Amino acid sequence: MTPQTLTTSALPQVRDAAGLTFAALLGLGLLFVASFSQAAVMHDMAHDQRHALAFPCH
Ligand SMILES: [Zn+2]
Repeated sequence: MTPQTLTTSALPQVRDAAGLTFAALLGLGLLFVASFSQAAVMHDMAHDQRHALAFPCH
């Protein structure tokens, strides 16, 4: 086993940990923002996105 083999085998684990950390922080951030925002504001934002995508609404 060469040192180069150890280095390349360790890289995917580091990348997976970074991706997992990023996904966890993003999810917790979304939960934090959604839980402290007003329901009418969240509804209006979703409604505007629906119109921006030309989705039939009303
Ligand atoms: Zn609408």
